[in-house]
Formats: sequence, C-alpha cells, structure tokens
Amino acid sequence: MKKSWISEIQRTLAVLIPSVLIGILVERPYELAALGLAVVVGYHLYQVARLLRWIGSGDIRSRPRAGGIWSVVYARVGNLLKNNEDRRLKLTAMLAQFQRTAEAIPDAVVALGPLYEIRWLNEAAGTLLGLRPHQDTGQPIQNLLRSPEFQSYLNSAVFDGKVEIKAPRDDQIRLSVRIVPYGEDQYLLMAQDVTERHLLERVRKDFVANVSHELRTPLTVIGGFVENMRHDESGFAEKWQRALNLMGQQSGRMQGIVEDLLLLTSLESAPRQKAGEIVVLSEVLEEIVEEAKAILPDGENREISIDVAAANLLGNPLQLRSAFTNLVTNAVKYTPSGGSIDVRWIVSERGGILEVTDTGEGIAKEHLPRLTERFYRVDAGRSREKGGTGLGLAIAKHVLQQHNAHLEIESVLGEGSCFRCVFPPEQLVSEADVPRIADAR
Ligand code: ADP
Repeated sequence: MKKSWISEIQRTLAVLIPSVLIGILVERPYELAALGLAVVVGYHLYQVARLLRWIGSGDIRSRPRAGGIWSVVYARVGNLLKNNEDRRLKLTAMLAQFQRTAEAIPDAVVALGPLYEIRWLNEAAGTLLGLRPHQDTGQPIQNLLRSPEFQSYLNSAVFDGKVEIKAPRDDQIRLSVRIVPYGEDQYLLMAQDVTERHLLERVRKDFVANVSHELRTPLTVIGGFVENMRHDESGFAEKWQRALNLMGQQSGRMQGIVEDLLLLTSLESAPRQKAGEIVVLSEVLEEIVEEAKAILPDGENREISIDVAAANLLGNPLQLRSAFTNLVTNAVKYTPSGGSIDVRWIVSERGGILEVTDTGEGIAKEHLPRLTERFYRVDAGRSREKGGTGLGLAIAKHVLQQHNAHLEIESVLGEGSCFRCVFPPEQLVSEADVPRIADAR
C-alpha cells in the first residue's frame, strides 16, 4: 500500500516536474504547470471511468490493469465483488435447497405477507388447497380459501390453534390448517391432510354413540325391575336386600355413564353455539347448589357461598347447567365435611369468569393437564365410591368450547382447587340488555 502511494507520487511528479521545467525554459511556467496538472487529473478520470465500466460489466475476471494506487483500488474492489458473488451464489444455493425441501414436504406450505397475500407456495399447496403457483401469487389467501371456519380463524388473528376445513377441490378431504407468524408481519400457512384421522375419529364417535344408545333401554328395564323388586312386599326383597341394593346402585351408575356418553357425543357433533338463550346464572347456580347439598351424606356439611348476582350469559341453558353442575358437585364430592366452597362470577378484561373454589383434597400437579380427558380420574376407586363417572370434566370442557369459552384449573394438593370457566365478552349479557334481548325474541 505504502509502495503504491510512493509510486503514484513518483508518477505524478514525473509529469509535473518536466512540465514546470519546460515552462521555465519557454517562459510559460504557469501554463505548462496547469497542462501537467490537467494530464494528471485526466489520467485519474480515465481510471475512474474504467473502474465504473468494469463494475457495471459484472465480469469480475476482466479486471483492468494499472500501476500506482489504482492497482490497489482495482484489487480491493475485485475482492469485494468476489466476496459478494460468493455470498450471492451461497444464498442462491441455500434458497434452492430450501425450496427443494419445502417441495418434498407432503403438507401444503404457503408463505403469506402482512395482508395475508400469497408470496410463495409449494407443490402440495396446489394439490391440497387448489392454489396455482403463478396466477395466485400476490392474491390474499382469504379470497381463495372461502370456508367460513377458515375465515373466522383468520379474522380472529389468534393463531395458537388449528382449524379443520374441507379441501376446496374435494369436500371428502379434511385438512387441518395452521398459521404460524414469523418475522415482521409474515405468516406461514401449513395444511395437513387429516382425512384418515377424521374418519377414524368418526368411527370411534359412532361406535361410542351406538353402544351407549343400545345400552340405554336394557339398563332402564333392568333398573326398573330391580326397583320394583326392592319394593316387593312378599318377603322376597328382605331376603335379597343386599344384592338388590347393589344391583340398583350399579345399574344406576351404568345409566349415569351412558347418559354422560350420549351427552358428550351430542356435544361433539353439535355446531358451535351462535347466540343462544339468556341464562341467568344466579337462578341456575342456586338450584345446582341446592341439588349438590341434597347429595351430601347424612351428618356431613360444607359451607357453600354464591356470589353471582347480575351475571347473565348467552348460551344453551341445559348444556351450561350440566357443566356447572359437574364443577359444583365435584367441589362438594372432593371436599371433606367442614370445608367450604365458593362460587363467584368475576368480570375482567378477558370477559366473564365463573369460579368454583374449594378447600378440598386438591389435585397433584401432574394430573392437571389430563383431568378433562374422558374417564381420567386421579383415584378411580375413590371416584367410583363418590358416584363419579370420570366424564364430568370432559363434559364441562366440551360445553365451554361450544360457548367459545375455556376451562382453567388450579389446584394444590391438600389445600384445594379452583376451576374457572372463562367466557369471552361476546357471550356476556348486561342486566340492561336482558329485557331488550328477551323482547326481541
Ligand atoms: P368424576 O366423575 O370422577 O368426578 P370428573 O371428570 O368430574 O370425573 O373429574 C375427574 C377427576 O378429577 C376426578 O376423578 C377427581 O380425581 C378430580 N377432581 C375433579 N374435581 C375435583 C375437585 N374439585 N377436587 C379434587 N379433585 C377433583
């Protein structure tokens, strides 16, 4: 570098000194010094023009040759251009690799921009979602996937779950669609063919529904006859009392399971509640608490307080009643005598929350995530002894889903539990609106 500066200065002086000397000889020193300077400036301008032409040509290998400082400039720019080219080739190779990988994925993958406009899609997106790579690029996805379920999923802009839709080109195919936000205002839509899983799920639901339905009548008949026999006055009942009591208890338990399974099946196949009736919570909960107290064994007591004044919900009264009954009766069942249960309604920015808190036996942390599964019980023997079916919380969860609500469970073993039903603001009805909505019916 130092060498090239010296050589550049030597070249400049080699032009300027002779011009000045000749200028002195011919008595025109300034003019010839200016001429010498013009030659130097002209040379540098020529090199700048060569440099620009070279960069513009994009051909790194045709590097101009020059001496002095310009040899360093060409060498440095050449290195920069080469590094740039290497990086570009590397990125192109990576992009091609990514595209090949994305094409190999059997699930549909669509990259979306801030307005959900399509930026890129893989081959499976064409097959599963009916999207065309060239024609549909730039189109908002909401204009192309018209299913109402997808539209409301997209409008909610909360992408922590999935939505199941029918494939646009073939309604026999079920797709599970998920949107994942990434970067700044960018989204990745992924769709998976879940037809087989959907069919298996339907077979399972149909099987449970059919078995439950078929068992319902025989169980009612058996239960009825056992009840009649228990009240027989010919002396038969006395002899068989223990057996008849057990038969009555067990057939009652089976009837309970069958009824709960049928309710679950109907909840699973019912469409989501759009609006529903006005449910006045204080009335429903007072009845539920009275019924819960009635099932308390003799000599036992629980202190139950209700604070749900002026709380009204839009929904299916029977379904909501069944969900709340399960929560309140569980609190009563799993709280020892002398304990207390609080039923409260809280309005927060999340919406309305019905909270059932007890000072009962509590639930260990590892069981909490599985509590709403069918037949999941912390202690199956104890649940049976308390007359439980293991389906109560599964029913509560489904009812809440039907009402766009969800269940939250907090519990500390040995201290008690708190079950919260969180309803979104659109399910709430203010006291002032009650007559207006009722009149409109
Ligand atoms: P079950 O009919 O057995 O009560 P649920 O689905 O209603 O079925 O409840 C599932 C399990 O969750 C119960 O078996 C019990 O172990 C536990 N559980 C539910 N509510 C409570 C509660 N309030 N306190 C302690 N454990 C509870």
